[in-house]
Amino acid sequence: MENAGTVRIQYPDLIGTERGRDLPSDVFASLSGGLHFCRAVYYTTTQGETLDGEHSLSDGLPDVLFRPDRATLAPMPWEPGYQSCLGDMLDPATGLAIGECPRGAAKAAVHRLAALGSRAVVGPELEFFLLSERDGAWARYGDSPGNVYRVGRRGDPDGLAPALLAMLRSAELGVTAVNHEFAAGQFEVNLGHSAALDAADRAFRFKHAVREFAAQRGLSATFVGKPFNEEAGSGFHLHLSLLDENGRNQFAADGAPAGLSATARHAVGGILRHARALCALLAPTVNAYRRLGPDTLAPALADWGLDNRSTMVRVPPERGEATRLEVRLGDAAASPYLAVTGVLAAVALGIEGRIEPPDPVRGYGYDGARAPALPETLDAALDALAADDEFADAAGKDLVAAFDRVKRDETARFRRWVTDWELREYLPHL
Ligand code: GLU
Ligand code: MG
Ligand code: MG
Repeated sequence: MENAGTVRIQYPDLIGTERGRDLPSDVFASLSGGLHFCRAVYYTTTQGETLDGEHSLSDGLPDVLFRPDRATLAPMPWEPGYQSCLGDMLDPATGLAIGECPRGAAKAAVHRLAALGSRAVVGPELEFFLLSERDGAWARYGDSPGNVYRVGRRGDPDGLAPALLAMLRSAELGVTAVNHEFAAGQFEVNLGHSAALDAADRAFRFKHAVREFAAQRGLSATFVGKPFNEEAGSGFHLHLSLLDENGRNQFAADGAPAGLSATARHAVGGILRHARALCALLAPTVNAYRRLGPDTLAPALADWGLDNRSTMVRVPPERGEATRLEVRLGDAAASPYLAVTGVLAAVALGIEGRIEPPDPVRGYGYDGARAPALPETLDAALDALAADDEFADAAGKDLVAAFDRVKRDETARFRRWVTDWELREYLPHL
């Protein structure tokens, strides 16, 4: 398998994109220790600037060591002769995982739950827009309104959904469904459930695959959470269950209220208690806060409900082995690794602290009198993250510090930027 041609090694940065290198497969096969990269990639903004500070030019831009995880070798059908390999980022001096590595943080969060006797199983659902270039600007692909669950060519004039599904299947990403979402050009793909790290790996690869699929057709795919003012946003829903050492679902409890175990309640309790801090990791852009809000199917409050899509944590109606939580907070632009890290960290804290949630909300889930509001800006979410030591420790202190550094730079630049809203609102009236 390793002689197939080329291996693309891939690792996540802190802003939710993929980095890596393409290696001839014989070079890849002969890698002994790993491959060196510049640590500054973790301190690089979405605009490509490397931030000043430790691990910057003034520090000599030190190396980090990528160790391939050969068990992750997988086909990359859109690039003939290629395979993809994920891995972990280590400190070359100590051989230990570096704090900035999102995959390492996700592994640590999985281990923390394992130490409590729970194996985390995750099923990711991601929404995104396909864009085509029209009159020199990016516009939504397709233009028929009212598309949710619309199948066929009316909402998908060029048959992109069937082509995408075929490609994703041969990429072995465990895709279970593709459907049209509410807005023109907006689609959702469901990835089947598996062990949490594997699910993060698949979601990470999925985003790369979709971007490449679009680029090869002269289109663009965006996971930005709220790319259009008048349209639905794109979410990253994360379905979570916990299994015991015999593979039995720990959230299910026959005869208990709502059929949910104490472990399920405590998991919800942890997510709600740490929701404001969690928001920074799951809604990690300035834009993400335009998506969150009442009456959007994205949450506005740190609350939960039984089969209730107006809440942040929905408990889907299935019970028994399919008993699970659907965390609906995630913005599609979130890093799958940071999303898994954050949710598992909050769940572990909930179980360790036996945190009881309030009763699940009934009906309308956007009544602000009932539950704390989610942050309204990325800065407020970063403040909540900075204030929640317990959560930051559980998610990884160094990870959170590096993330905060990159994201504070983002919000500072945004604060100084004149937006098109200001121009529309104030020019020429004032
Ligand atoms: N697009 C909604 C969101 O931003 C979710 C819609 C759905 O329930 O699938 O989270
Ligand atoms: Mg959806
Ligand atoms: Mg969903």
